[in-house]
Amino acid sequence: MSERAAPFYCPYCGDEDLRPSEQGHGAWECAACNRAFQLKFLGLLARGLRQSDDGGAQI
Ligand SMILES: [Zn+2]
Repeated sequence: MSERAAPFYCPYCGDEDLRPSEQGHGAWECAACNRAFQLKFLGLLARGLRQSDDGGAQI
């Protein structure tokens, strides 16, 4: 089971120019704003997804 989760956009500036970081697992670097961040899977939500009222969680 892979632990890789690739972000599509930088959570800070929204750019798509992300590269895997050498900092470790789940670490990414944004070439646009020079930020490094890390993604971590925390677990599944017992209550499931709940959006306010537009059902936006459905894809
Ligand atoms: Zn960025």
